[in-house]
Amino acid sequence: MRKGILIVVSGFSGAGKGTLMKRLVREYDNYALSISATTRAPRPGEEDGREYFFLPKEEFERKIATGGLIEYACYCDHYYGTPRAYVEKQLADGKDVILEIEIQGALKVRKQYPDALLLFVMPPSAGELRRRLEGRGTETREVIDKRMRRAMEEAEGIEEYEYIVVNDDLEACVRELHSIIAAAHNTPLRNKDFIDKMRKELEGEKNVTSILCRTN
Ligand code: 5GP
Repeated sequence: MRKGILIVVSGFSGAGKGTLMKRLVREYDNYALSISATTRAPRPGEEDGREYFFLPKEEFERKIATGGLIEYACYCDHYYGTPRAYVEKQLADGKDVILEIEIQGALKVRKQYPDALLLFVMPPSAGELRRRLEGRGTETREVIDKRMRRAMEEAEGIEEYEYIVVNDDLEACVRELHSIIAAAHNTPLRNKDFIDKMRKELEGEKNVTSILCRTN
């Protein structure tokens, strides 16, 4: 069975990660999308257990204390974290698990899972990012400004990621993401067990060859 990998997707708030990930999961069947826990309030149209598990701060902190989260971070005054059980189950079932998380969390995940694939989604321009955030119509001007400032901070860390993807045309971007992930499955780092097995087999073949040489 093909081993599942963890795919960490970050990108500025408003870059369109959420839409991209939903499309990816809908169009291909090898993906599982992790649902994060957060202490922020639901936006209009968001449902508990679908976009996020919306938790009170005390409950979130209990999860941290009991090791129920793979990682967590504070983003614009709220906690966000990845529940451990779902991710581990899906990886064991051979699924590629997508975590849509910000950069502090992404770096923590890479420490625990060195073969995780880190992708960064960019908007075509900063002006377009602001237009998308304003167009959403769900956040106040103050929150939008905070998220734009946070985007500037996150831009400092982009080189930590393996690939950037520009979300200009949604369909093209979904296809591009899928090809990058497919190619990532074939890197030596993500095929250590197979490579070790091949080396052992070659070692066995070498012994057979030397026996044959001696008898001939
Ligand atoms: P939003 O409030 O716009 O849904 O998300 C804000 C930021 O939190 C986004 O950059 C999103 O990727 C990030 N985020 C969502 N879930 C998690 C999580 O489980 N862990 C971390 N570290 N960041 C998350």
